[in-house]
Amino acid sequence: MTRTLVFATNNPHKLREIREIMPDHITILSLADIHCEGDIPETADTLEGNALIKAHYVYDRYGFDCFADDTGLEVEALNGGPGVHTARYAGESQDPEANMKKMIAEMQENTNRHARFRTVIALIEKGVEHLFTGIVDGEIATEPRGEQGFGYDPIFIPEQTGLTFAQMGEEGKNQISHRARAVGKLLDFLQHS
Ligand code: IMP
Repeated sequence: MTRTLVFATNNPHKLREIREIMPDHITILSLADIHCEGDIPETADTLEGNALIKAHYVYDRYGFDCFADDTGLEVEALNGGPGVHTARYAGESQDPEANMKKMIAEMQENTNRHARFRTVIALIEKGVEHLFTGIVDGEIATEPRGEQGFGYDPIFIPEQTGLTFAQMGEEGKNQISHRARAVGKLLDFLQHS
């Protein structure tokens, strides 16, 4: 059965990642495709809350079945932070370079470098909410390495790889990433419902 879902994101990297993972019979529309412009406010204090706000925003106003994700980098030595504040870790500009610089500085004295990326996907389908979580464990690198990906990719080393996400390339990253794991659960749900 063919299906159309809106993915409520303005991030072109994420859109490409998701479209690569989804099978052909599931069409993914972007916010631009449905002419939903501007940023959707993310005012919740949990990843689950923010993902639900974004998915509801589209479902309630535009009537499309929709999913949205929210991701946090949870660093053990920083008591699970920056977590829900990951995008704005170094300030409102959401500058990835500044975020990485701050993380490297905060972690300079730390021998415990364990961290994880956690993605929560909220799907609103025919008005019903569903949540899916994906986690990848790893470590914070001491300096950025690699050119690919986005966000914190140059300083996140998923366990058992020895490479940062930015060194792995999209295909390698998509096999193990937090988002791919959450999307895998979403996909499983879509194929069995
Ligand atoms: P959001 O959920 O897309 O708002 O992401 C929150 C923060 O996590 C942003 O700073 C993103 O750049 C970062 N982030 C999300 N996914 C990834 C990823 O796959 N790699 C690196 N950084 C990510």
